[in-house]
Amino acid sequence: MALLKNIFVKLSPRLLSTTNTRNIACLSALPETHQMLQKTCRDFAEGELKPIAAKIDRDHVYPKEQIKKMGELGLMAVAIPEEYGGTGLDYLAYAIAMEEISRGCASTGVIMSVNNSLYLGPIDHWGTEKQKQEYITPFTNGQKVGCFALSEPGNGSDAGAASTTAKLEGDSYVLNGAKAWITNGYESEASVVMATTDKSQKHKGISAFIVPKPINGLELGKKEDKLGIRGSSTCNLNFEDCKVPKENILGNPGFGFKIAMMTLDAGRIGIAAQALGIAQASLEVAAEYASKRLAFGKPLLKLQSIQNKLADMALQLDSARLLTWRASWLKDNKKPFTKEAAMAKLAASEAATFLSHQCIQILGGMGYVSDMPAERFYRDARITEIYEGTSEIQRLVIAGNLIKEMEL
Ligand SMILES: Cc1cc2nc3c(=O)[nH]c(=O)nc-3n(C[C@H](O)[C@H](O)[C@H](O)COP(=O)(O)OP(=O)(O)OC[C@H]3O[C@@H](n4cnc5c(N)ncnc54)[C@H](O)[C@@H]3O)c2cc1C
Repeated sequence: MALLKNIFVKLSPRLLSTTNTRNIACLSALPETHQMLQKTCRDFAEGELKPIAAKIDRDHVYPKEQIKKMGELGLMAVAIPEEYGGTGLDYLAYAIAMEEISRGCASTGVIMSVNNSLYLGPIDHWGTEKQKQEYITPFTNGQKVGCFALSEPGNGSDAGAASTTAKLEGDSYVLNGAKAWITNGYESEASVVMATTDKSQKHKGISAFIVPKPINGLELGKKEDKLGIRGSSTCNLNFEDCKVPKENILGNPGFGFKIAMMTLDAGRIGIAAQALGIAQASLEVAAEYASKRLAFGKPLLKLQSIQNKLADMALQLDSARLLTWRASWLKDNKKPFTKEAAMAKLAASEAATFLSHQCIQILGGMGYVSDMPAERFYRDARITEIYEGTSEIQRLVIAGNLIKEMEL
C-alpha cells in the first residue's frame, strides 16, 4: 500500500513548497507531517471528490473507486498501526484528513469515519492477535469496509437498553434482533455488533461481536432515503438465528457497552472533523460568491452586514476546529478526552449547521437551488448533530463530566 508516510518522503519538497495553509487557521503551527497530510488530502478532494460530490448526492452513489484510492493513500486506516496495514499516524492526523475529505464530499467523509474509528478502532483496541489479522488488515486498503451496529429501532440515545440478544450455544453465539441506521450497511464485509448476552445485567450484560458479512441469518433492511450524506448507505441489520463463532466476541463478555462508549468517544472526533469540512466548504463558497456578486453597484463582500456574517462564520469554525484538535491531542497523549470530544462534536456540528445556513443566506436564491453546493452542505450538516450521539446527549456528557471534575 502506498502509505501516506511514503508519499511524504517522496514528495516532501514539492508538498512543502505548496502547502495550502491559507484557509486553515493555525495549520502552519502544526508539524510538517500534518501540513503535508492536509495538502495531500486537499488535492485528492479537489481532484477526485469535489467534481462528483453533487452526483454522489443526487443519485445516491457509493463512491467505490474513490474509497479504493483513499485506501491506497492510507486514509481508510489513518491511526491504525502499520503492522496491521494501517498508516500509523495519530488522531490529529485523522481529524485533519477527515476534515479535508469531508470538505470535498461529506458522504465520503462518513464512510471513511465509520471504517476508521467505529469499525477498526475497537478491533485495534480490544481485538486478539487473530482478530486483528483477520478483521483489520484486509480493511485498511479500501478494498473492504466495515460498519458498527449499536443503535436499534427501539433505542438510539438509550443504547444500554439493547434488545438484540446473543446466546451461547456450543461453539457459537446465536444472534437475534435488529440493529438500526447502520452506516456502510450495504457495502461492509464485517460489522462490530453489540448484543445482550445477559439481560439481567442491563447495560453490563451487553457484549461486542465481530460479525463477518454476508453470513447466514443476517438480512439487510431497505436502504434509507436520507436528507443528506446520500452517497453512504444506511440500513437495518436484521439477525435471525445468526450463528457467529464464539471466538468472534470482542473483549470479555459484558464489555460491549464500555467498548461502544469508548469507541464513540473517539468516533466523535471524526464526526466533529466531518462537520468542520462541511463548515469550511460553506465559508469558502459564501466568501467566493460574495466577492463576485454585485448588488447596488458593488460586490456583496463590501457590505458590512455580509462581512459580519463571514466574521461570525469564521469565528465558529475556528473555535470548533481548535476544540477538535484539542480532543485529538488529548487522545494522542493518552489523557482523558470524553468531555472534550463531546464539546468538539457539539461545537463543530452546530458550526456546520450555522455556516451552511449562512452560506445559503449569502447566496440568496442561488443558495436554494442545486446548481450551487450550498443546499447540499445544509442537508449534509444536519446529520452531524444527530449521529454518534445527538447534541442533547453531548450536553449530558459534558455536564456529567463537568460535575464530576468540579466535585459537585
Ligand atoms: C444517517 C444515520 C446514520 C447512522 N449511523 C449509525 C451507525 O453506523 N451505527 C449505529 O449504531 N447508529 C447509527 N445511527 C443512529 C444514531 O446514532 C441515532 O439515530 C442517534 O443516536 C439518536 O438515536 P434515535 O434516532 O433513536 O433518537 P432518540 O434516542 O429517540 O432521540 C430522539 C430525541 O430525543 C432526545 N433525547 C433522547 N434522550 C434524551 C435525554 N436523555 N435527554 C435529552 N434529550 C434526549 C434526542 O436528543 C433526540 O432529540 C445513524 C443514524 C442516522 C440517521
